[in-house]
Amino acid sequence: MPERYDAIIVGGGHNGLVTAAYLARAGRKVLVCERRELVGGCAVTEEVWPGFRVSTAAYLVSLLQPRIVAELELERHGYHVDAKDPAFFSAFPDGRHFFMWQDRRKTLEEMARFSARDARVYAEYEEQLERISRVIEWLLLTTPPQFPPAGVGDFLEYLKLAARLRGLGSKDLVALVKIFTQSAADLLDEWFESPEVKVTLATDGVIGANGGPRSPGTAYILLHHCMGGVGGHRGLWGFARGGMGAVSEAIASAARSRGVVIRTGAAVESILVRDGAATGVVLAGGEEIQARIVASNLDPKVTFLRLLDERELPAEFLAAVRRFRIEGTSCKINLALDGLPDFRALPGAPGPQHRATMHICPSIDYVEQAWDDAKYGRPSERPLLELTIPTMYDPSLAPAGKHIMGIFLQYAPYTLREGTWDDLREGFTQRVLDLIEEYAPNLRAILLERQVLTPLDLERQFGITGGNIFHGEMSLDQMFVMRPVAGWARYRTPIRGLYLCGSGAHPGGGVMGAPGYNAAREILKDGRRPG
Ligand SMILES: Cc1cc2nc3c(=O)[nH]c(=O)nc-3n(C[C@H](O)[C@H](O)[C@H](O)COP(=O)(O)OP(=O)(O)OC[C@H]3O[C@@H](n4cnc5c(N)ncnc54)[C@H](O)[C@@H]3O)c2cc1C
Repeated sequence: MPERYDAIIVGGGHNGLVTAAYLARAGRKVLVCERRELVGGCAVTEEVWPGFRVSTAAYLVSLLQPRIVAELELERHGYHVDAKDPAFFSAFPDGRHFFMWQDRRKTLEEMARFSARDARVYAEYEEQLERISRVIEWLLLTTPPQFPPAGVGDFLEYLKLAARLRGLGSKDLVALVKIFTQSAADLLDEWFESPEVKVTLATDGVIGANGGPRSPGTAYILLHHCMGGVGGHRGLWGFARGGMGAVSEAIASAARSRGVVIRTGAAVESILVRDGAATGVVLAGGEEIQARIVASNLDPKVTFLRLLDERELPAEFLAAVRRFRIEGTSCKINLALDGLPDFRALPGAPGPQHRATMHICPSIDYVEQAWDDAKYGRPSERPLLELTIPTMYDPSLAPAGKHIMGIFLQYAPYTLREGTWDDLREGFTQRVLDLIEEYAPNLRAILLERQVLTPLDLERQFGITGGNIFHGEMSLDQMFVMRPVAGWARYRTPIRGLYLCGSGAHPGGGVMGAPGYNAAREILKDGRRPG
């Protein structure tokens, strides 16, 4: 008799692992099937070169929900984050630089070198963002109400949502509406005057976005990046000890300790459906495994268009899934270094700049122009670069004296007007290295190895359609009650017993665990027990 599970999780990304752990915690017998030889999806540590353990995709933690960390006792399973300090270092072509620190007083001193007025209003800006984040962050672990609302119960849910907003004064409510609709540049223009301060703050608004700092909707992405924290300190981001894979491994270990079986090298080829209900999965190679619950950690396009027979799905739903926008514009380049970059704007090494996220993007116009290229299908001539050196916090990630540098880059459009990424990859990489050398001329001299992950490579390696780092654009029409498609934002799907538990569901991407947590809650609510 083949083994039978209560639930099969398709994909062992961090969200799938969270769903598995919570289902097992509630007594369900759970199997996770992961295509790769390691779990974690986009949150992994891989030994790319001997002795170099690289966070190949995601590289910083902030959004992982504290409730999940506490309830799954992740610290006991090896989860540890070192908060980044300084948070940001921006180098400018005129030789100036700007730091943002954990200590607000030090940040204000820095800011005052660029604008005394900005330093005066910064505390107020941060406090407003914090008040707004506090009121809306509970949405992250909330299942969106039914949309469009059908019955009285649905309307009541909307009323409950509206009641939550009463906590905000009228000024904050106006700010909230603006944040949901404005561009990051418009938001920052209302507060600040210094171009250097503005661009440093604006980067969070465009990371992972299909848009420039002047595109409406990017103010929300900025807020999304402020929603988390490290060690209870809101807005901080940090490096996971052991790389991002240690986060996923901690969740996997918590899941295993509750009896979850995790199979790696187990690609799911299709989801089995009988009479409109999920009954299990078929692995590559033909093995069939039965379960009455299947939860997919894969993005909505792969789940519905590749793993299911389209005839099982309503035509309208299928059309909406086909329209779901999921093209990425990000590229990740990982370097092995024999030293540290020496910045013209702050010579010497090691220094605090190497512990920060180092920005190469001197102005909002620069970032907007980088987006202009991508809008028309060209990799940015001069992209926005975010550099991080995790070995400054965890030297065990590389051989003694060596370093790892992660370059997160915007914009590299998945769909190119001319050529393919396989043709353009090398030329683009050289351009990125040239650009960094304008600011840190010793880069090539210390360069040992490089790994370049264009959106095409991200799709190939991590199985994320279009290389979109969030499993689908995080624009207003694809958020909350509309994620992934209107009418299906409550983790259920048109197939009974089939759920979505990855970033393509509310509240979207990032190493947050929230979609996985919410999906588990809804699965348990439906109470589908083994037959
Ligand atoms: C380059 C990059 C940088 C990023 N940086 C950050 C960052 O610094 N901080 C942050 O918070 N977020 C970051 N993100 C976003 C974040 O990593 C993702 O949104 C998040 O990790 C997605 O998690 P998930 O569990 O929903 O899906 P995934 O991590 O995509 O997991 C899906 C899993 O399913 C597996 N799979 C695919 N197909 C099959 C199949 N047929 N059968 C079985 N298994 C399958 C995959 O191998 C994968 O393990 C980044 C993402 C990328 C790509």
